[in-house]
Amino acid sequence: MTETSSLSRSDRAIELAKKAHENQFRKTGEPYIIHPLAVKKILEEWGMDEDTIIAGILHDTIEDTSLTLDEIKQNFGESVAFLVDGVTKLSTARNGMRDIDTYLPATKDNFLRLMIALGDDIRVLIIKLADRLHNLRTLSALPPDKQKKVAKETLEVFAPLADRLNMGLLRVELSDLAFKYVDKKRYDELKSLIEKYNKQAEKSLKKIETEVSEALKKEKIDFRLVGRVKSVYSLHKKLAKHNQNMGEIYDLTALRVIVNDITDCYLALGIIHSLYTPMGGRIKDYIAKPKQNGYQSLHTTIITKDKRIVEFQIRTHEMHEYAERGLAASFYYNEQKLTENYKKGKIEHLPTNLLWITELQTTAAKLREGKKVDLKKLKLNLFADKIFVYTPKGDILDLPKGALPLDFAYKLHSEIGDHVVGVKINGKMSNLNKKLEQGDVVEILTSKNQTPKSTWLDKIFTPHARAKLLHALRLSKSNSETTKKWSR
Ligand code: MN
Repeated sequence: MTETSSLSRSDRAIELAKKAHENQFRKTGEPYIIHPLAVKKILEEWGMDEDTIIAGILHDTIEDTSLTLDEIKQNFGESVAFLVDGVTKLSTARNGMRDIDTYLPATKDNFLRLMIALGDDIRVLIIKLADRLHNLRTLSALPPDKQKKVAKETLEVFAPLADRLNMGLLRVELSDLAFKYVDKKRYDELKSLIEKYNKQAEKSLKKIETEVSEALKKEKIDFRLVGRVKSVYSLHKKLAKHNQNMGEIYDLTALRVIVNDITDCYLALGIIHSLYTPMGGRIKDYIAKPKQNGYQSLHTTIITKDKRIVEFQIRTHEMHEYAERGLAASFYYNEQKLTENYKKGKIEHLPTNLLWITELQTTAAKLREGKKVDLKKLKLNLFADKIFVYTPKGDILDLPKGALPLDFAYKLHSEIGDHVVGVKINGKMSNLNKKLEQGDVVEILTSKNQTPKSTWLDKIFTPHARAKLLHALRLSKSNSETTKKWSR
């Protein structure tokens, strides 16, 4: 596809979105189109592919305007329609839920999983993240109670999602923006604390930078040295973990050494350890053993002669790019016609659980080249064996495929499970043999007089519910034996 045709395609999308959102305004008073255009810009900055950018422009049209999915499909093809549909489904699912404070404890985590399950194509989640980022950047226009709600949800769901996709820069921006709204006082306090600390460390940091630079040059290692400022929210979380003891925070000051290849990473580590005393137990090799989200680096904490504690993070350029931009970076790389060698290197250092990214890249590339792609294959199905069902109040429970109403009841609470008299699924009376399906709203009817029945064993699918029921049956059996004894 040529550059000009791609331009006109996204320009056509802008025209369509403008018309669809005409006479709609944001809380800031600006025309609504400002928002989809900002989302477009963010997605471009992340280096996303054209279909994702177009879907970003159109992401609010199905929910908020009279535009239909068919029209989008006709104008921009299956792939764009699929993405817009995904984003719309995500926000519909979210609207059905209550304030995050009142979720069941398990639900917050499930929401994240739900997002991933619903976002069959990971690009749906990336659009959602761009959408959230812009909403957060303009959050001051909302009333305070709304601000808090959006900010909290960002900390609970969207920042962890960014982390899961190893989008480090995004995670930091989202969580710091949001934290400011959740706890302004604490945010200001920690922010000035970090600034003060950095100011104090400035001089000795300069000295360390010079020493390290000279030593690396002497060994003929190509490098880039950059400082990293600790994010306010991650300091807040760390302090909470360490009983607010600043003495336990060793990474307030960190320097990143970015080099050409893995060998140089280990060489640089050795050089740094020859200059300063490494702190015991603080050397972490995330190159040999990447984090779950694919993050790679060598970390070490050292103490200088004047007792400064500095963390070093050593990584290659690719690892650095991937640490900051994560999943989006892999799309970006795909745009830059890779050499075969590089491609191999990339696959090699992606951990197995992230190999789907590579698969997705290939698929995305095919789509861009206008080749036919089986859309079903694009679905990642990370939770293929799971279904998510709702309580009438909007809490989400995850259950294995094949689960029955009693599994649901016992998962809620054994008190509920033991007293089931019936079930309503999606508002209609149903029966205990009915397999639950993705997205069902399940209401369990109970009665105090009901007791657990051994016939229920046939109406149970999960080991968890089975164990609960067997336990209840044993109890009621011994109770009735006691009653018999007494009646004699
Ligand atoms: Mn939006």
